[in-house]
Amino acid sequence: MKKIILTGDRPTGQLHIGHLFGSLLKRVELQDQYDSYIMVADVQALTDNFNNPQKVRDNVFEVVLDNLAVGIDPNKSTIFIQSMIPEIAELTIFYSNLVTVSRLQRNPTVKEEIKQKKELFKDSVTFGFLGYPVSQAADITVFGADLVPVGEDQLPMIEQTKEIVKKFNSIYGNILKEPEALIGSVGRVKGLDGNTKMGKSLNNAIYLADEPEIIEQKVKKALTDTKKIKIDDKGNPNDCMVYYYHKIFSQDNLRNIETECKSGKRGCVHCKKELSENIIKYLEPIREKRKYYQNKPELVREIIENGTKKAKIMASETLKKVKEGMKINYF
Ligand code: ATP
Ligand code: MG
Repeated sequence: MKKIILTGDRPTGQLHIGHLFGSLLKRVELQDQYDSYIMVADVQALTDNFNNPQKVRDNVFEVVLDNLAVGIDPNKSTIFIQSMIPEIAELTIFYSNLVTVSRLQRNPTVKEEIKQKKELFKDSVTFGFLGYPVSQAADITVFGADLVPVGEDQLPMIEQTKEIVKKFNSIYGNILKEPEALIGSVGRVKGLDGNTKMGKSLNNAIYLADEPEIIEQKVKKALTDTKKIKIDDKGNPNDCMVYYYHKIFSQDNLRNIETECKSGKRGCVHCKKELSENIIKYLEPIREKRKYYQNKPELVREIIENGTKKAKIMASETLKKVKEGMKINYF
């Protein structure tokens, strides 16, 4: 039997090159060897967008388009919507007994995100948001996932999941599988503004759907070495976001770019042009494929519906075993 992958995205916006190198490319690479489940995490998206249901609704389609665009093949991978699998919510409730509030409060990613969402949560975070790592443990284990391809920010969630699995199995019998995280080629892609994370909600991203002109404009505004002002000023590539992305998109010419920049032989305008050309070229087939599916909403709907049906079967099998173990299998 093939090993299982569970991974996914929150429908909070379109996907960008951070997602691509953090998680999407790994999914595509592994979909032949693994039985892959790709979840559109609408329930999780609502934990910090409960007041904006239309945003979440609209982005379900966008996120599925992005996955199909990068090469997820619906014949190999199962794409489904989280809220359509109520077994995940059930499991979350059972797991919530196995996690303390202080453990959740110590989760570094949750801590960081609560700080970023001060406006929403004011002086007290919701029960739902604080508990989303518990629901993530349910997402992963309900499919018996062996592997979870994620960006670096998700590592604490996988740790949390392992702890829940251990505790569950020690009380209710050896029913759940412990998953492993798999980090992409770039664990955390930085933002155009130099922020340590390119984020959907941070306004610092190059989206997979961005048209060439938009990419050019965004690269033009990217943060560069502030000490390099004139063309022949010597630059420090390590203080420059343009060089940072060259490391991802311009492997062939990287040495040259570095030497020229350091010796004052490379102007930022030219350097940015070269970068945007490379990004545009790299993303072109993705953009084209995205348009193909965008123009076939019925096909996309069918892919999601079929995937959801398949995911539901797997989830209900796990729930049956879980309920037996927990002695709540009445009739
Ligand atoms: P949100 O701000 O709504 O949380 P997000 O940009 O963090 O959005 P998610 O849907 O939460 O995106 O994450 C989907 C996957 O992409 C996760 O595995 C996450 O680790 C990964 N990911 C997100 N941003 C980056 C990034 N900048 N670099 C690498 N991986 C990333
Ligand atoms: Mg996130």
